[in-house]
Amino acid sequence: MLLSTNAIDDRVRQTLVQTLYTQPTSLAMGAAAGILTTSVVAIYASQPAITFATVLLCVVAFARVALSTMLPRLGVENPRRLEIAYEAGAFSYAFLIGLIAAMTIHFHSLPAAQVLMVANAVGYATGIAARNAGRPLLAIGQMLLTFIPIVIVAGTSPEPAFKMLAVSVALLAPAMMSITINVFRVLRSSVAAAETSARLAERMQHLARTDVVTGLCNRAGLDHALAEHLERRKPGGCFALFWLDLDRFKDINDSLGHQTGDKILAEVARRLRARLANSGVLGRFGGDEFVIACEARDRREVENLALALLGDVCRTFRIDEDRIEIGCSIGVAMLPDDGDDLDTLMKGADVALYHAKVNGRKQVSFFDPSMTRDLVRRREIEAELRLALQRDELSIFFQPIVDLATGKIRAFEALVRWFHPEKGELRPDEFIPVAEETGAIVTLGNWITAQAAKAAAGWPEDVTVAVNLSPVQIKAPGAALGILNALREARLPPERLELEITETVLLDQTKQTEDFMTELAEAGVRFALDDFGTGYSSLGYLAKYKFGKIKVDRSFVSGINAGKTSDAIIRAVSEMALTLDMEIVAEGIETIEQVAAVRDAGCTLGQGYYFSRAVPDYLATMLLSQERDRMPKLAAG
Ligand code: C2E
Ligand code: CA
Ligand code: CA
Repeated sequence: MLLSTNAIDDRVRQTLVQTLYTQPTSLAMGAAAGILTTSVVAIYASQPAITFATVLLCVVAFARVALSTMLPRLGVENPRRLEIAYEAGAFSYAFLIGLIAAMTIHFHSLPAAQVLMVANAVGYATGIAARNAGRPLLAIGQMLLTFIPIVIVAGTSPEPAFKMLAVSVALLAPAMMSITINVFRVLRSSVAAAETSARLAERMQHLARTDVVTGLCNRAGLDHALAEHLERRKPGGCFALFWLDLDRFKDINDSLGHQTGDKILAEVARRLRARLANSGVLGRFGGDEFVIACEARDRREVENLALALLGDVCRTFRIDEDRIEIGCSIGVAMLPDDGDDLDTLMKGADVALYHAKVNGRKQVSFFDPSMTRDLVRRREIEAELRLALQRDELSIFFQPIVDLATGKIRAFEALVRWFHPEKGELRPDEFIPVAEETGAIVTLGNWITAQAAKAAAGWPEDVTVAVNLSPVQIKAPGAALGILNALREARLPPERLELEITETVLLDQTKQTEDFMTELAEAGVRFALDDFGTGYSSLGYLAKYKFGKIKVDRSFVSGINAGKTSDAIIRAVSEMALTLDMEIVAEGIETIEQVAAVRDAGCTLGQGYYFSRAVPDYLATMLLSQERDRMPKLAAG
């Protein structure tokens, strides 16, 4: 049962009682008729008792009309009092009307006055039985109070016609009573039905606004609650909107099943709710996204709350014996700093969330107007990257890697270039991350390897080609096969291909990564550890995987970090490389001094603008043939 009968009865009763006061016009008209009739009768009869009763009736009638029009407007606090006042007025009016009619008979007034008064009283009583059917006791009480004096006086009169009048009025009473009760029943059931359907509609609306998995507001509910919350907002202070997105929730759903996924969502909801402690608005925005809105004193408080929320979600989950770690990214936008309406705020938080994710997840990001520009550019790149390959806008450039002892080119690193018809040359740093995010890197990477292998096949046999691999590429199914195919098609021996990977690939050691590296290494492909020194710089995996080269990041060579310490680092790495039979490449060499420095520190190979920028394949071939014609004099350190 959705609603208790008592609850319905109460509301029905309330509605029915209201009908008493909502028709002051009918009350006024009845009162006017009563006053007129009784006044006329009083003049005809000129009986002090009748005159007195008439005056009393006029007072009561005026009071009732005044009460019914004024009191509801004044807003009486206790409706029960209003009801009692109404009842007292109604009963006394009904009794006075009946009494005056009876008196006209008793005092043998003019027959016309008798007819006028009795007709008026009986008409009034029957009318009231219908009008007040919403309150049957009141209606019947009024009718009886009018009838009784008439029946008594007419019944005790010796005149047979009056006796007959008494009988017919007495018979009229039960008839009218049953009509009143019937009307009451019909009224009650129709009001009750309306009430029930209104409650049902309310309940449906609640369900439509609630998320079944977490019990929080869903998107529709959130929209509603946010709008309401904002409307009630006090001026001053700030209003913050947090947009949370669970990191890699899809993986959990896929690997552990939707039931576990749902349990995690419910637990996340519980933690967030506990943190908010009934303040603010909290909802699930579909999938693995949650939105929180609340008021705060200042930005500092918002920052603290954001970090607390992040901590809450990042705490280990225990679901059916399993321990599950899940990260979360949070985007935050605030009123009035970042906008002045809900829509702008939502967009701001969404953009900030996107930044938190792009910057490596498990973090909070506050909205900043520059984010929108970045985002627009990213979205454009995302859309156009798909077409870039077909439109022939991409090409591979080659940068020589030079032997620091002889000055001879030992390899070329393949670096992708995008010449956009409108935006000009786009840097790989700008579009490679986008390609990784959308998965386009897999196709793009295969194409790059194929192009690089094709170019390298035309070079002398002792020159190798280095290709950068993104972690996403390695995780894609059939990654190793794609590379071996490219080699076969270009007829390039696997030994002449070197794959540059960064530490991040090795950080989350999966079987996939291991298989990928083993399979290619067995085929003869070599690996270089790229950007060394920028990440964790752990040397642990150097023992596990066979790397032919370590590339010391350019920040140690020409960047701001370059100096005594980096010199020492390069020295340490070179020493170790020597024992492990690896070569050390110094990246980003721009000056002759840097050449000398890195060579002294023990680097065997060098790469950088000092030697050459990345150049198109025909220029790479030309560099090689020039080199064969005359060996360049390498500047001595
Ligand atoms: P990276 O692998 O460290 O590539 C070397 C970057 O340093 C290249 O930038 C190169 O142009 C630049 N460089 C070389 N010598 C110097 C120098 O003397 N001074 C300075 N300041 N810079 C120098 P580029 O081509 O913009 O590539 C940037 C990054 O984009 C690369 O860093 C690599 O991580 C990624 N990338 C480039 N091409 C590819 C590709 O084909 N596939 C993948 N997955 N990533 C690529
Ligand atoms: Ca590289
Ligand atoms: Ca590098």
